[in-house]
Amino acid sequence: MIARGRLAPSPTGHLHLGNAWAFLLAWLSARSAGGQVVLRMEDIDPQRSRPEYTAAIMDDLRWLGLDWDEGPDVGGPCGPYLQSARAQLYQRALERLESMGMLYPCFCTRRELRTLAGAPHVGDGGAPYPGTCSHLSAEERTALLRQGRRPALRVRCDAARERFTDMLLGPQSMSLHDCGGDFALRRSDGVIAYQLAVVVDDAAMRITQAVRGNDILASTPRQLYLARLLGLSRPRYGHIPLLLDRDGERLAKRHASLTLRALRDAGAAPQALVGLLAWLARLQPAPTPVQPRQLCDAFRWDALPRHNIRLPARLGDIALC
Ligand code: GLU
Repeated sequence: MIARGRLAPSPTGHLHLGNAWAFLLAWLSARSAGGQVVLRMEDIDPQRSRPEYTAAIMDDLRWLGLDWDEGPDVGGPCGPYLQSARAQLYQRALERLESMGMLYPCFCTRRELRTLAGAPHVGDGGAPYPGTCSHLSAEERTALLRQGRRPALRVRCDAARERFTDMLLGPQSMSLHDCGGDFALRRSDGVIAYQLAVVVDDAAMRITQAVRGNDILASTPRQLYLARLLGLSRPRYGHIPLLLDRDGERLAKRHASLTLRALRDAGAAPQALVGLLAWLARLQPAPTPVQPRQLCDAFRWDALPRHNIRLPARLGDIALC
């Protein structure tokens, strides 16, 4: 079976160096195995996604030297490659789970649910959902609906542990309870949750390996669980370390100077950035400029660091131009 990896950016902002790091490693993992790469835009949340970011992200990825065999711009047999155009598939999956009696409406407040459409990050979740709304009677539900309350939909989780072997971190075993308990598959405003969309898409796009940041590790048991309930194939997972700023914070949109756009505008060369990232990934002994495809022979999962990496205090000490 040919390896198929994916780049799955959310077009909610410009790519930063941390995204470039994750996409470079995801790309190398697939390409070094002679595999294919799928680009999927995770624009599931209409409030946060912007088409201009979709275009900018594709431009930035190409500038970096990454390519893909299927994607929103080049098409392919598993399209469409924008999650916003795949609503019917997600709806069908929801109906299947509904018919199995696995879903229940949840009337808890928006504040509690606000992060659900995005990929949750470890530590964001707080205490597991206590199952409050799973105990509502039919009468209570009807009364709440009559009041005009719009529920989210949650999936019932069991106490079982999910086990998988991470490509980098080795054997993992987590209970769904540890990962937040019953989780939402649809927000009260109708937006499908990341967890469902990603499972449906990884299977439909025949993805065999999902390489992504270790901040999403706690989502993996949920995704394995959903894939099992829906009878879908599941990829192997590789959770890579995050790039941190010098204060130990993970890179995010507020690090405006570390977007690929800003670095490019400041004169950075793509091969220099890739060289820096490859050095941080221990794929080369020094941050010398290199193109992604020149790293395919050097890429090895067991070479990669497992712990999050602080960026050198002064990026300027490394020649990026
Ligand atoms: N779109 C997700 C993100 O940007 C990717 C999650 C995944 O790779 O499964 O966080």
